[in-house]
Amino acid sequence: METIYKELATHLDNLPGGFPATESGVELRILNKLFTPEEAEIALHLTLLGESAEVVAYRCGIDSELAAERLYQMSKRGLALRQEKKTGARKYMAAQFVIGIWEYQVNRLDDELVALFNEYLPDLMMPENWKAAPQLRTIPVGVSITPEHLAMDYDSAEIILATKKKILVAPCICRREREMTGHGCGKLMDACLIFDGAADFYEGNDIGRVIDLEEARDILNTAAEQGLVVQPTNGQNPVSICLCCSCCCQVLIQAKRFPSPAEYTASTFIAALQPESCVGCQLCVAICPMEALTRSGEKVALDAKRCIGCGLCVGKCRFDALSLEEKAQAPVVSKTYTETLMRLGKARGKLSNTGMAKMMVKSKLDRKRAKNASSGGKQEN
Ligand code: SF4
Ligand code: SF4
Ligand code: SF4
Repeated sequence: METIYKELATHLDNLPGGFPATESGVELRILNKLFTPEEAEIALHLTLLGESAEVVAYRCGIDSELAAERLYQMSKRGLALRQEKKTGARKYMAAQFVIGIWEYQVNRLDDELVALFNEYLPDLMMPENWKAAPQLRTIPVGVSITPEHLAMDYDSAEIILATKKKILVAPCICRREREMTGHGCGKLMDACLIFDGAADFYEGNDIGRVIDLEEARDILNTAAEQGLVVQPTNGQNPVSICLCCSCCCQVLIQAKRFPSPAEYTASTFIAALQPESCVGCQLCVAICPMEALTRSGEKVALDAKRCIGCGLCVGKCRFDALSLEEKAQAPVVSKTYTETLMRLGKARGKLSNTGMAKMMVKSKLDRKRAKNASSGGKQEN
């Protein structure tokens, strides 16, 4: 496999979400499928800061028009992030693999890419990082919690939706790729609610469609009826909300394998069972995505270590035997998803405050150097 893909793999692994190396080299085959060698070269020069094509061109030593065209095409295929100002000016940033490049391939999947991704999954999932800073958190479905028990607005999908200026619904890549491999569950396909700036990016890449608040609420209701878990990106002001099933969502599938999924989930709530009210109908057992509820004689038993606080069981129990309670130690929820990604990068030993400061200084210098170079001036060293 060409050296350029190895370099790009290392570059992607240095981003918060990571891109671990494997013995089989499947990650290089994925890059080889997604990026041309020229695109891989340019992606190596993208950072976590929004930068113009001129700056990236300067770093790569290529013509800035060529860089602008290449970056635009890459961003349209979800291989780089693009920010567009009202003036039409564009900036580009590195896209991490998950959540990022992979999700942006939802309309570009083919059998080969799906097979490669599934081969890579066991190595890609790094649950030890989830404890430090999971990219998604779980919040309760609406019916499972009363407003007086809701201490924080960011624990309510309905309140989150009401704060968003723009909402887009995109297809769920987890369910789409499971369907392609003959394991589809038939649940809601338009299930990823994307907000504001992230919605602009999706719209600009022809992924999903912009919807109004009413339709977004309808989608939430359908998700609750189908027993889907509400998972926003981990931040008080999330950029998206995923509506997930434990049969297709790779995060839930992995979490379910652990003896204590609760440890890996940034949820404020946990289920509480009042056995005296339970009539043993087992409806809660059937809907629990983590097998936290099991039959126990004539009633059910709750294993709190397995509870991710989704609230689906509460909505099913007609006998008030189940409720959600705030955890004694609620997880830290950063203000923004970007802050969570910084925490994740630091927890993985890939980012530091000094490293970020150096990145900013270099970006500023490269801006000047690119400007000098384009005006025929002398470049700084
Ligand atoms: S995380 Fe959930 S909603 Fe998002 S793509 Fe996966 S299953 Fe679908
Ligand atoms: S849904 Fe309620 S009543 Fe039925 S088994 Fe579960 S806790 Fe008991
Ligand atoms: S017991 Fe199961 S269904 Fe109920 S909140 Fe916990 S994880 Fe969700």
